[in-house]
Amino acid sequence: MSQVLLVLNLLSLLSLSSGATSFSLGSRSILRAIDNENGGPHDYAVDLNASNFDSVLGDTPATFAVVEFFAHWCPACRNYKPHYEKVARLFNGPDAVHPGIILMSRVDCALKINTKLCDKFSVVHYPMLFWGPPAKFVAGGWEPKQEKSEIRLIDDGRTADRMINWINKQTDSSFGLDDEKFENEHLSSNVSDPAQIARAVYDVEEATSTAFEIILEHKMIKSETRASLIKFLQLLVAHHPSRRCRTGSADILVNFDDLCPLDMSSPSKQGDNNGEGTLGNFQICGKGIPRGYWMFCRGSKNDTRGFSCGLWVLLHSLSVRIEDGESQFAFTAICEFVHKFFVCEECRQHFHDMCSSVSSPFKTSRDFALWLWSAHNKVNERLFKEEAFLGTGDPKFPKMIWPPRQLCSSCRLSPSEENNGIDWDQEEVLKFLTNYYGKILVSLHKDKDKNNLRSDRLDWFLEDLAVSANAVVVPLGAALAIAVASCAFGALACYWRSQQKSRKPRRSWN
Ligand code: FAD
Repeated sequence: MSQVLLVLNLLSLLSLSSGATSFSLGSRSILRAIDNENGGPHDYAVDLNASNFDSVLGDTPATFAVVEFFAHWCPACRNYKPHYEKVARLFNGPDAVHPGIILMSRVDCALKINTKLCDKFSVVHYPMLFWGPPAKFVAGGWEPKQEKSEIRLIDDGRTADRMINWINKQTDSSFGLDDEKFENEHLSSNVSDPAQIARAVYDVEEATSTAFEIILEHKMIKSETRASLIKFLQLLVAHHPSRRCRTGSADILVNFDDLCPLDMSSPSKQGDNNGEGTLGNFQICGKGIPRGYWMFCRGSKNDTRGFSCGLWVLLHSLSVRIEDGESQFAFTAICEFVHKFFVCEECRQHFHDMCSSVSSPFKTSRDFALWLWSAHNKVNERLFKEEAFLGTGDPKFPKMIWPPRQLCSSCRLSPSEENNGIDWDQEEVLKFLTNYYGKILVSLHKDKDKNNLRSDRLDWFLEDLAVSANAVVVPLGAALAIAVASCAFGALACYWRSQQKSRKPRRSWN
């Protein structure tokens, strides 16, 4: 891990030399309802313009997007707005009834900045509504005679009722304008569909940023917990499945001494959202996260699943990404993090007991990933009985010894379980975990801003770090040169990178 620290120190130097810190100020989520200019009721539809159009649509977890092109001076558009908002209420914001399915957005074509954008979509009257997968809008356009476009003109959305009917037809759903939050009984659990875990990349981002918010809200960074947080951040920097969480964690680490000075007896900076450059303003996984809802970890009842599910998924996804030499470090980082920062007393005590019962250090990532899987199953087993007795479980997501046969039939050696004991084929379990949490659960986020060199450089570095930490010795000369001559960073990093490549084949998680 000394190489990890070395490289993190170098990152710190680079950050200072470029004067760059990426404190993301502003609202918690662009998808959340925003106050309109008059301080009136919330708008649910997201305002897009030429500068954020591609990034918002590129980043949204929603499967579909509706984009309304309008003009603020157009009386018909003003009258249409309440209809559009009635539908947007269902899908946008932290109180969305059906979050993560459709992003409802609008573009004001009367603003000069949007002229080209509106031209690209051949906007000839207001309002004009389009439907399609969000990614198709990115750098896209629409022409009336274009065949086979996945972006479609919504030709029957003039009232909220007609719009929701149109959407229901497209999605084969039965959304209703009067649906209320947490009427999720229709949610299908799909526990046997391995592809579902791909959606969890949003949940590991949500869990990471939520965990961080809780740490700040509860002012949990103290002199006795500081080292544990740093350790966990180091693990995130190298192995978080989401690229932007890796970048955000690195930003916090390199600024850690400023953000969390050693005299934390009066942690005045924690949770302080007013001052620029304070920890409270730092969004670890980037702007707009936490979004306020869960995708893979969404429960069918309002108080089930969510954060703790997201945290488990994050921990498993870290466990399958580490190298052998990092296994003991990852174990202690995760145990300490749960023990010191997970505000569920029973959970952290149980987990601490399981951590304490490990008698010898982990030597391989295999052993650690399997230990975590088995620890989670022990929790599942206990909770299965408890939830059945108390009726507190999620009926659509009952606890089970995992993975069920439908997800991984080869994981079980014998076709039937005798005496409730399962005869696991551990190599098959490991293969399954690595594929599920490693290859399927990957970052979907690509840096849209090609000019964001710092972030690109950082990712280069971190990806290589993920490969090299503890397995390959970082060439000290090259690393120092990179730190000192940050202006020539690109060329030197390239050299360093090529050295790494020639030493060891790159792993392609992303
Ligand atoms: P979760 O158990 O949260 O699992 C999330 C997802 O992980 C599942 O949907 C499944 O896809 C996958 N999964 C399930 N089992 C495994 C496994 N063995 N290996 C890999 N992947 C798996 N709650 C308590 O009431 N008491 C406790 O003591 C307690 N301890 C906890 C300790 C930790 C570290 C954490 C993170 C949570 C703990 N919780 C505890 C919360 C509890 O485990 C669940 O997270 C919560 O009840 C939500 O359950 P869920 O149905 O979303 O599935």
